[in-house]
Amino acid sequence: MVTYRDLVSAFRDLGLTERSHVIAHASLSAFGEVAGGADTVVGAMVGTFASVVMPTFTYRTMVVPSVGPRDNALEYGLDPEQNALTDFYHPNLPADPLMGVVAETLRLHPEAQRSSHPVLSFAGVGAEAHLVTQTIEDPLAPIGSLAEEDGDVLLLGVAHRANTSIHYAEQQAGRRQFVRWALTPEGVIRCPNWPGCGDGFNAIRGRLGGIRQRTKVGPATVETVPLRDLIHLVTGWIREDPEALLCDRPGCPRCSAVRSSVRVS
Ligand SMILES: [Zn+2]
Repeated sequence: MVTYRDLVSAFRDLGLTERSHVIAHASLSAFGEVAGGADTVVGAMVGTFASVVMPTFTYRTMVVPSVGPRDNALEYGLDPEQNALTDFYHPNLPADPLMGVVAETLRLHPEAQRSSHPVLSFAGVGAEAHLVTQTIEDPLAPIGSLAEEDGDVLLLGVAHRANTSIHYAEQQAGRRQFVRWALTPEGVIRCPNWPGCGDGFNAIRGRLGGIRQRTKVGPATVETVPLRDLIHLVTGWIREDPEALLCDRPGCPRCSAVRSSVRVS
């Protein structure tokens, strides 16, 4: 059984302290049994770090218009029934189950705040300065803000496919981004600078070498990577190989769109 103390001691082993600014991604089930469940994981992070941020994305607010820009890795207007299932965004909309119960538990923490993007919101504690940097045009800005504070990525039982900060680095490298749309009480909002597909991100593992720190907590691997180093590594790799970190899934719409954008130019 994994305890609060096990988690705090693992964070210390990884070099994280009360001065750390962390973006975390977590799978509670990877830890087997955790005494106190997701509250314990959130409590250990909030109790250890200066600030902790997690993605609390709400993909169910997304709508597909009948027409839109070309080369956007989206089939327009094909699925009106899907649009009928869309939820209006509101600030208390729960994070998608895909984000994990730990992210949703952080969002519900009494001291938590949440950024305002109708799909790509982040929740955080002690993180207001990072969260307020987000705009509709710059949805991943909180990650840049964390990097400026020498922040770290913390992967709790999840792989780099879940590492949103690699998407931030892709944008910094000038990789093609997309446009999506969200349903809000104010109408349908256009969301530019939409990131690509993360299914190929596990390829980063072979390059992290001395940058990452890893430990085990129960059956789960817990890994930390300094954001500045990660961003430097990913932007350098994409400049050297414009198809780096794309996935191998045949016909993946977003990865195919990125490939054609770099092959045309
Ligand atoms: Zn892909």
